Amino acid sequence: MQKQERKVVVIGAGSVGTTYIYALMHTGLVQEIVLIDIDEKKVMGEIMDLEQGMAFVPPVEVRPGDYSDCADANLIVVTAGAKQKPGQSRPELIQCNADIVKSICDKIKSCDSQAVLIMVTNPVDTLTHLALNQLGWPRKRVIGSGTVLDTARLRYMLSRHCGIDTRNVHAYILGEHGDSEVAAWSMAHLAGISLKHYCAICQGCDSRAEHEDIMRRVRDSAYHIIDYKGSTFYAIGLSLTRISAAILRNEHSILTVSLLLQGEYDIHDICLSVPCIIGNTGVERIVTAGLSEDEQAALKASAKTLREVMSNIKF
Ligand code: NAD
Repeated sequence: MQKQERKVVVIGAGSVGTTYIYALMHTGLVQEIVLIDIDEKKVMGEIMDLEQGMAFVPPVEVRPGDYSDCADANLIVVTAGAKQKPGQSRPELIQCNADIVKSICDKIKSCDSQAVLIMVTNPVDTLTHLALNQLGWPRKRVIGSGTVLDTARLRYMLSRHCGIDTRNVHAYILGEHGDSEVAAWSMAHLAGISLKHYCAICQGCDSRAEHEDIMRRVRDSAYHIIDYKGSTFYAIGLSLTRISAAILRNEHSILTVSLLLQGEYDIHDICLSVPCIIGNTGVERIVTAGLSEDEQAALKASAKTLREVMSNIKF
């Protein structure tokens, strides 16, 4: 039987887009990766650099393209955006990226694509919502990378603290990819043992204070990395590869992507992250976990923050 060819279109040839391609190339998951950017020279340079490593990865074509490539793509990943300029306010940056995403979605829409779209450009939740409105696709096919990265940070920091392999630590960050994000401690477990129960047995630290400290470090991670080196791209590149694998391999994996909530968690008409089952059609099901009262209240507060950001964008 002939194996189905898989194609990914990446829009945005910056640090995030190219690091994602670099990570994706190693997986053997796709046969074709197409790169689009307004800076055509940068696209040529990035592609030459990537394709000259072809001897060391499974066969894959990486090439420049245009929006017509979206028509038969399995996945479209949007990382295009502007960075904050000196003197530019955050709301001005948001409006600038909203305008970019709007123009990109108009071009994608004309292709009649059946792909799943992953929004990465920040503010990711708001721009996922904007893309969904602009494309008019089913909500399950327009998702944001959301808190998949923040969740990875939480799992890593907890694993380091507890001295346990990160892959055996299961914990989720929900809500906004940003300052109002929420750690769902009530859902956290270490290989089947609830974190609460594990801490009671371990008694190795003041667990409440430790959880607060870990959450603070998760929330501040991006600020520190940007302060040290200008931008973040490795861990988001790997996060995008993980989401891509769940979609392209129809894995039915649970990941905290951002999508439009329509009453789930008692939140209406706002995009934010909750645990979702991901397969080749995008979000197959939203997992509605029983959060604690505090967590549920914090999630609703996060939705309120996002609603305010959304209301300030001019469409
Ligand atoms: P970058 O400046 O390195 O690259 C952005 C690219 O977008 C540039 O190559 C630019 O030419 C291109 N671009 C701008 N307007 C375009 C348009 N209209 N069409 C096509 N391409 C266009 O930025 P980066 O570091 O790669 O970050 C990209 C975005 O990802 C930013 O918004 C950043 O905040 C975001 N990000 C999100 C997460 C997350 O977890 N969601 C993590 C890291 C970064």
